[in-house]
Amino acid sequence: MGFAKIAAAGLAAASPLHADPDVPTHAENVLLHVIAHEIGHALIREFDLPILGPEEALADDFATVLINTMLPDRAEVIITDYATFLAADQTEASLFSEYNDDVKRGARAVCMTYGYAPDRHAALAAQFGLDGDLATACADSAPEVFRSWRRTLAPLMMPSTAPVTEVGLDFDDSDIAVFLADSEVMAIAEGLLQQFDWHSRITLSIRACDGSAGWSRNGRTITVCDSYIQRFAAAQ
Ligand SMILES: [Zn+2]
Repeated sequence: MGFAKIAAAGLAAASPLHADPDVPTHAENVLLHVIAHEIGHALIREFDLPILGPEEALADDFATVLINTMLPDRAEVIITDYATFLAADQTEASLFSEYNDDVKRGARAVCMTYGYAPDRHAALAAQFGLDGDLATACADSAPEVFRSWRRTLAPLMMPSTAPVTEVGLDFDDSDIAVFLADSEVMAIAEGLLQQFDWHSRITLSIRACDGSAGWSRNGRTITVCDSYIQRFAAAQ
């Protein structure tokens, strides 16, 4: 994978000024998928990739592809925690929304992950009740989705020998941001961003805010609100 920096876990957990905000591992796993989704928006917009369908669905699939490709050893548990969070959160999409219902978004990630490597992820499919013709359909379509992303992204990948200068992390002084600064999970997220040859600096920001996560083209910033991370933590 060639990640430039994997920090030791938990170094920032013991600040005396802040209560332990407790970001459990399952919340970190959901966070990785959410950040990967926003990296998808950033790539689509920064590199003017064709938007041949609902952009939210493209970003979801991109996130699942990135997780499976770059973090194969952690992919199954990330997808499990992500789908479990969405099943618990159950935001229902309105009729004309670009988003699918939450349960369906999670199921899609399970379908793509299983279909990409059916032998490896048989337990994942069983856990979510994916079997029979639907499992076969996932195994048919997922490799096409992965190949399409692979070919689309190939010219945008950062050569492993090039110095990375266009990616930065930003944390405010909220409890969760302080907790996550210098954490292993944010080093992994930074490593995902560093896979791509951005032409301008991209910032990943964890902040105190009410809301979810988003990509802002103006500041070239991916922002994740601490309240969203609290929802990840509460889901299990
Ligand atoms: Zn999105």
